[in-house]
Amino acid sequence: MAKVLAVLYDDPVDGYPKKYARDDIPKIDHYPDGQTTPTPSAIDFKPGQLLGSVSGELGLRKFLEKAGHTLVVTSDKDGKDSRLDRELPDAEIVISQPFWPAYMTAERIAKAKKLKLIITAGIGSDHTDLQAAMDRGITVAEVTYCNSISVSEHIVMMILALVRNYIPSYGWVIRGGWNIADCVERSYDLEGMNIGTVAAGRIGLAALRRLKPFDVKLHYTDKHRLPEKVEKELGLTFHPTVESLVKVCDVVTINAPLHPETEHMFNDKLIGMMKRGSYIVNTARGKICDRDAIVRALESGQLAGYAGDVWFPQPPAKDHPWRSMPHHGMTPHISGSSLSAQARYAAGTREILESYFAGKPIRTEYLVVDKGKLAGVGAHSYTAGDATKGSEEAAKFKKSTAKV
Ligand code: NDP
Repeated sequence: MAKVLAVLYDDPVDGYPKKYARDDIPKIDHYPDGQTTPTPSAIDFKPGQLLGSVSGELGLRKFLEKAGHTLVVTSDKDGKDSRLDRELPDAEIVISQPFWPAYMTAERIAKAKKLKLIITAGIGSDHTDLQAAMDRGITVAEVTYCNSISVSEHIVMMILALVRNYIPSYGWVIRGGWNIADCVERSYDLEGMNIGTVAAGRIGLAALRRLKPFDVKLHYTDKHRLPEKVEKELGLTFHPTVESLVKVCDVVTINAPLHPETEHMFNDKLIGMMKRGSYIVNTARGKICDRDAIVRALESGQLAGYAGDVWFPQPPAKDHPWRSMPHHGMTPHISGSSLSAQARYAAGTREILESYFAGKPIRTEYLVVDKGKLAGVGAHSYTAGDATKGSEEAAKFKKSTAKV
């Protein structure tokens, strides 16, 4: 019988919800490319419930315990002697979400002698040292597509929030003001602007589709070109390099996975090639941007705004400069963890577990690493290597919170 270790974010500060804002969520069977949403044999939760936090347990306890497995759930994942580290040596399966990642470094993987499967309940498995997983023959799987549309909606929201200067204007209302000139001195229309995505995969393409009705000019760069039919339908301009894309865009949205090729892609040099006053929206991974280069560009005016929900490490320390830099619209990592998305990734996690326990193949599109090499979505979108370096800094959040 297996020990399953789930690392989930904390419950709300005022306790696990007793009621919700809405009574139901739409039922979605298929994603835009025809892929079916997760198909576990059953679920033990009501879609729309909070599942990603400790008490939500991804809705897995009944299913696992009925089959004789052990489920350990904790949010304590960073620093010396974390519960994650204490529970790892006899764990067979580790589950975590990118929002509150269990950084599965080579050191942790070495300690976890029985580990066979690492599941990302979400999308983006960069918090696992994929090279170390390959070397140990550990399978890494994620719930491909589960929250791609959720993120694309968030991207449109963040682009509009930055360009139209929504957040500072809301701030004036809260402070009792009516400071129209203060609100509009940095407010523009999106219409006519050039908007480009770095990567046009599931999220990038969905964001382009959602932006099209704003009468903007759309651009993309990606390792593989989209079908001509899609390029025509959306009026897309393809750029063979990211440099060529950023030079002509007013707004850039980043939608590539974090892997050695994309780590720190947005550094001083690349940002310096952008038009003065450009905006960046990054909901992909914090480490795709050089942290301090973003701060410098906002301070100098090279960037007019930066928004996103992804940081490095996560959680970021209280004094992380992205909390206080000018003209930002950052949130904690939430775009892919709406209650709607949680229902899909909890069901997808159960589907992966059911396949694993039954000795059946995990859906190919869910695989990142299998049988010692990149597989499935991993083989298509990632490069081998490790993007977890520096993740030990996540322990600073604990320390800084303790001071409050
Ligand atoms: P997909 O796998 O559908 O798309 C990723 C795309 O990135 C692919 O088209 C891939 O190219 C492209 N790509 C990879 N490397 C490069 C590169 N060096 N330059 C340009 N393009 C590149 O994944 P999703 O769209 O669903 O998700 C993308 C990322 O978004 C995830 O990996 C994750 O990091 C992040 N994410 C964030 C969430 C949040 O809550 N903020 C939630 C979900 C995901 P190709 O396949 O053509 O080789």
